[in-house]
Amino acid sequence: MKVRCWGARGSVPVSGPEYARYGGDTTCIEVRSKNDEILVIDAGTGIRRLGCALLEQGRLDLTLLFTHTHWDHVLGLPFFKLLYDPKAWIRLYGCPGLQGNITKLLSRVMSPPLFPVPFASLPSRLEGLTWEEESIQVDTLTVTRIALSHPNLGAGYRVEEDGKSFVFLTDNELAQHHRGGRSFDEYAAFCRDADLLLHDAEYTPEEYPARRGWGHSHFGDVALLAKAAEVKVLGLTHHNQERTDEGVDEVLRRCREVLAGPGPRCLAVSQYSEFAL
Ligand SMILES: [Zn+2]
Ligand SMILES: [Zn+2]
Repeated sequence: MKVRCWGARGSVPVSGPEYARYGGDTTCIEVRSKNDEILVIDAGTGIRRLGCALLEQGRLDLTLLFTHTHWDHVLGLPFFKLLYDPKAWIRLYGCPGLQGNITKLLSRVMSPPLFPVPFASLPSRLEGLTWEEESIQVDTLTVTRIALSHPNLGAGYRVEEDGKSFVFLTDNELAQHHRGGRSFDEYAAFCRDADLLLHDAEYTPEEYPARRGWGHSHFGDVALLAKAAEVKVLGLTHHNQERTDEGVDEVLRRCREVLAGPGPRCLAVSQYSEFAL
């Protein structure tokens, strides 16, 4: 499978030369199966560039999952060009905490006067699906999920194909139990032996105490999780809105210090990162 990140910024998109390397777009992840079927997780502002790329490739068919629907994870959706293409077919799965179904929620995001085009008038085929079994299948990708520890609930995902695994846990506070959330050990079990784990590392350990309960982790806890789960590669993501490229480099350097010795390889995810598993 191939995993590509289109947005690695947390909370709000940012711009400016100081953010150029890791990028300012918010969360959007693309996974392709070995048969080149497409699974997308989250519609942060990164999904705009993904939409342009898919149109160029003539790809109009995909499955879209959401970790949760805080603004930074749905903000790009109105600018995802496939929505306006009558030949596009998008299968949507919701997540815990929607207070209704996913199409109903997205129709609130895209409704006048917040946005001029009402969701109901989009010409593409948008199919809202319910997650009923323990896992879903997208071509050869098997996807399971776990509840996030985050305000207003959410889901993290594990994607597997031919013995390879990718885990995506963003907006997950490991050191604080939020309603519906799981324990550190349950997250470690969910991540067990993953080839790639991308995890929210919004804070440094120094910043964290004043922001406890906001729904995000510091890199020290994330390093402990990656170690406990014996993942092969850890990618830090959901970079804080104030974190310049140099700041992300520093977070990565310090996280690698915590992980010193045998154990996970660590990197900081950018909105251009690609992984082949
Ligand atoms: Zn977020
Ligand atoms: Zn959130």
